[in-house]
Amino acid sequence: MDTVKTLCPYCGVGCGLEVVGQNNSNNDLSGWKVRGDRSHPSSQGMVCVKGATIIESVDVDRLMQPMVRDRLDQPFQPTSWDAALDLIVAKIQQVRRNLGSDGLCMYGSGQFQTEDYYTAQKLFKGCLGTNNFDANSRLCMSSAVSGYVQSFGADGPPCCYDDLEQTECAFLIGTNTAECHPIVFNRLRKHHKSNSQVKMIVVDPRRTPTAEAADLHLAIQPGSDIALLNGIAHLLLQWGKQDQAFIAQHTNGFEEFATLVKDYPPERVAQICGITVEDLETTARYWSESASVLSMWSMGINQSTQGTAKVQAIINLHLLTAQIGKPGAGPFSLTGQPNAMGGREAGGLAHLLPGYRSVTNPQHRADLEWFWRLPVGQISDRPGRSAWDIVRGLENNEIGLLWIAATNPAVSFPDLERTKAALRRSPFTIYQDAYYPIETSAYAHVLLPATQWSEKTGTMTNSERFVSLCPAFHQPIGESRDDWAIFAEVGRRLGFGDKFRFANSAQVYAEFVKITRDRPCDQSGISHALLTEAGPTQWPHPASSQRSNQPKRLYQDYRFNTADGRAKFGINHNNGLSEATDDAYPFVLTVGRLYGHWHTQTRTGRIKKIQQMHPQPFIEIHPRDAEEIAATAESWLEVKSRRGMARFPVKITKAIAPGVVFVPMHWGALWAEDAEANSLTHPDLDPISLQPELKACAVRLRVL
Ligand code: SF4
Repeated sequence: MDTVKTLCPYCGVGCGLEVVGQNNSNNDLSGWKVRGDRSHPSSQGMVCVKGATIIESVDVDRLMQPMVRDRLDQPFQPTSWDAALDLIVAKIQQVRRNLGSDGLCMYGSGQFQTEDYYTAQKLFKGCLGTNNFDANSRLCMSSAVSGYVQSFGADGPPCCYDDLEQTECAFLIGTNTAECHPIVFNRLRKHHKSNSQVKMIVVDPRRTPTAEAADLHLAIQPGSDIALLNGIAHLLLQWGKQDQAFIAQHTNGFEEFATLVKDYPPERVAQICGITVEDLETTARYWSESASVLSMWSMGINQSTQGTAKVQAIINLHLLTAQIGKPGAGPFSLTGQPNAMGGREAGGLAHLLPGYRSVTNPQHRADLEWFWRLPVGQISDRPGRSAWDIVRGLENNEIGLLWIAATNPAVSFPDLERTKAALRRSPFTIYQDAYYPIETSAYAHVLLPATQWSEKTGTMTNSERFVSLCPAFHQPIGESRDDWAIFAEVGRRLGFGDKFRFANSAQVYAEFVKITRDRPCDQSGISHALLTEAGPTQWPHPASSQRSNQPKRLYQDYRFNTADGRAKFGINHNNGLSEATDDAYPFVLTVGRLYGHWHTQTRTGRIKKIQQMHPQPFIEIHPRDAEEIAATAESWLEVKSRRGMARFPVKITKAIAPGVVFVPMHWGALWAEDAEANSLTHPDLDPISLQPELKACAVRLRVL
């Protein structure tokens, strides 16, 4: 039997897996088993149901060969790779002639390996000269990125998972960690349970399994997070609990911040948030009395028109009390996708370039033009289209070719009817994925079969900055090819052969890490060979470094990545929800995830055990609200927003606050009829991160 060490390809926790089985000439995976890898530093042998069952999804409903059609109302016809690639190259050249390079657009994925991301950046931002590459991380983590950049001068979660066992106070806000990042939660829960002095505070409008485990659950009103965070700061300052020496030596903007939080006295905050003054004071007391405080957050913070401001408001508390750069302390974003972190490192958002660089920075563009041997001025200084701007571009006939890979916007985008109408307008859409059918494949003219976990070799970075190698251990299914290899082949056929002379993904990674040298995400000392030999490796890891010398946490020296080395307090008031409730739409809808499913079910919908765990979508409603609209446990509700409609069976529970309803986001048109949460959500964006406020909108309910 063979044992392969690899990484779970679902969430950003990044658990190590061991896959045990026998390779055979039929490429038959039925005998292979998956277990947790005890030697992986992040997960220590633990694994949740998604990782444990991943092998079952590998050879079901796979796209076996390239397919084409002229129009969306025609059936797909099989074609050869040569013919499909020739067609794509001809279309790219045609669009460049007619619309310029900005008529091209790619929408990628945190499911990409870093090598895929990097090759796509080189092709689009480098060779083709358009920054129109964005990824589903825009819907997931872009507010965390912009919050870190605003406060610290650079992206990069400062903490590590060891902090879960070293903290005295865990402050979880906008994260249902128990269901969405289960192994992180297992580590924290064990520490909390066995140390009575350790406090856990959970801030969430729902009483989630995470909140069940907390010492204190603050069921705040959706959209009141900044009021709460500023209110905690108000009390800490009132009690003299700030660290004046740290503030004076290592931060800017404190005076303005102290003035701002005067507007958030406890009574006002309690009223805005819908909590008691006592609970607010207890929160501030836990924070001030703990030697170490670790904040964690996820989509409940990021998916907001104030996502960046919320991240800054969390970081403000850490700057105020010097809770950063030491064991058990710091602001820690929990990444959604398995390699959203690697995507950020490789420049995989429309405003970024590889190595935590920005397209608007002349020196950063010059670095890449020199490194990629491109003419000066080749890289555009304009940020490309962010996720929602792709919809606008299609509506305005500004996009001639859309290339979507490893993600499913026909379920995951906000305002789905508008999204689908825009996708239907696309003159030419390439959809590259491992599976077929997927909701988004209905909007494609060309389907390209991509390899996935288990049949491609590449790297992924998890939330605590550990880079792991995911090796191929069986032959690709059908005619599928690696994403990076498809991008490289298109580059060669477009005449950029000298830029894409990669024989394998190890060579792609070797090129990528060179451009991270001396950057905050320096991983120039990491290679596929090192990862094979030494296992997962955390960055920063410069070429000159010894493994044991590397700090586990960023900012241990309190030197931040700003020009003067100081972190910056964010100055932000609480604006509330972008779409407030009113008489016509009196309920707040919030959406979220369930333990077993992953995003739009592309994999997990094809795994029997997980289907049985979560057989159908539902809507959670408080008993008081259910009574008011005469809904019973047997009812179905029609849910309407200003944009669309969906129907769900009712789940009456006190876990949800009165006035708020909850729907899981996993069901698209393939899996259930009229149960798409995002047919209801709106696309209002955070002005800095350009992340949509997927977390909340106003709806009305009717019993069917
Ligand atoms: Fe995979 Fe995330 Fe579960 Fe770990 S916690 S096994 S990375 S889905």
